[in-house]
Amino acid sequence: MNVDTLIVGAGFSGSVIARLLADNTKQKILVIDSRDHIGGNSYDYINQFGIRISKYGAHLFHTDRQEVWNFISAFGSWEPWEHRVLAKVYPGSGNDIFNYVPIPVCIQTIQNLYDPSVQNEDDMKRWLDAETKTIKVQPPYKNSMESAVARFGYRIYNDFFYSYTLKQWDKPPECLDASVLQRIPLRYNNDDRYFTDSIQMLPSCGYKGVFEHLLDHPQIEVRLNTDYFQERHCFNGINCTVFTGPIDGYFASRGLDRLEYRSIHFDEFTVTVEETDAVIQPASVVNEPSMRVPYTRTVEYKQFLNQRSYYSTLVREYSTSHGDPYYPVPNERNMKIYSIYQQLAERETEKERRIVLFLGRLANYKYLNMDQAIGNALDNWQQWTKEGLIKIG
Ligand code: FAD
Ligand code: UDP
Repeated sequence: MNVDTLIVGAGFSGSVIARLLADNTKQKILVIDSRDHIGGNSYDYINQFGIRISKYGAHLFHTDRQEVWNFISAFGSWEPWEHRVLAKVYPGSGNDIFNYVPIPVCIQTIQNLYDPSVQNEDDMKRWLDAETKTIKVQPPYKNSMESAVARFGYRIYNDFFYSYTLKQWDKPPECLDASVLQRIPLRYNNDDRYFTDSIQMLPSCGYKGVFEHLLDHPQIEVRLNTDYFQERHCFNGINCTVFTGPIDGYFASRGLDRLEYRSIHFDEFTVTVEETDAVIQPASVVNEPSMRVPYTRTVEYKQFLNQRSYYSTLVREYSTSHGDPYYPVPNERNMKIYSIYQQLAERETEKERRIVLFLGRLANYKYLNMDQAIGNALDNWQQWTKEGLIKIG
């Protein structure tokens, strides 16, 4: 096979490396993916109602890393977009009254739900101090319950985080690494945006368009519907492989314990509306942090970039343990098992001939946002070329 580098996975991790190789070497690069499309979990498309939807859940691009933006913005056209999420909260237990409030928790959240007198940063600090004063846990937090109650107190923890997390991970927060709930910020001001990064964008050509541009290079060949695990014998002659699939799948023949992942079942439905700008729910994403419904959130895709249509497509997300691996589950058991796979991966990379490089959310068993996946690919590229694992020129 006339290929210098094989890239397994056409998500951001694999596609960025493919493009760097094509732009900086004379290599022939083969990118394979088991799915029937490029783009990995960021893939989107326009459905039969003319609405752009993401196949694997809403994807909002946000970053503070200018070099990541400099790199990716060259591929496709992008528009500024600030993401806002409302949570449908039933405060306290046992009553049927709910309120749509901003998450991350900010002044407006507290005013609407618990205490209208909270007006400014000082009030917010006082209110939260009162909520957390009896909580004794100290950093470093042992788990996500500790990291949440220390910041928010039990009332917010129960109304926003406990049940949502149980639905999402099938585990209570005390059985998950502190990092899971540390992802969610707490705002002492009235900033109700989901992210505060300096760069927040959506591709107006869709992520599909971005990936088409990324992989459009005469040295890159893309082969879809090609599963590495089933066809790896066909690629034996290739000296360098960049693997972005699940690391425990790569080493499956060793018979070690498998890693745990969460998947999502997407339940899509479309309704007609009277005006092209009419929408169904009060925000593009409505989180459901209550056990009254089994899904975690509903996304109304039309709201992203203010799409116009006499239809609206909504997607409910049900977390499940079956299906494609999306989320690594960060807890002690999995991190212990992952460290064994990591050692195997290091040995595979050190081989003199036929090196294998592991990259991305699944191969590094780490929750990565898109900008982190792109940033990691750029950083690893620097490292690999410095160490001579990949030769430029
Ligand atoms: P992936 O995109 O998962 O790509 C890996 C590819 O490898 C896949 O296409 C897979 O089919 C392929 N593959 C796996 N095994 C094999 C095999 N054996 N043979 C061939 N191919 C294989 N990030 C944000 O920044 N903002 C968001 O709003 C956001 N929302 C998200 C919502 C959800 C529901 C999920 C699951 C993730 C979200 N992310 C978001 C994260 C984002 O999806 C990841 O950062 C990104 O997908 C990581 O890219 P990757 O290339 O590492 O992995
Ligand atoms: N989370 C929660 N309630 C919410 C939103 C998030 O409990 O309303 C928790 C949940 O455990 C989730 C984690 O915070 O898995 C991270 O949320 P985020 O929205 O960042 O996750 P993603 O969009 O990647 O699913």
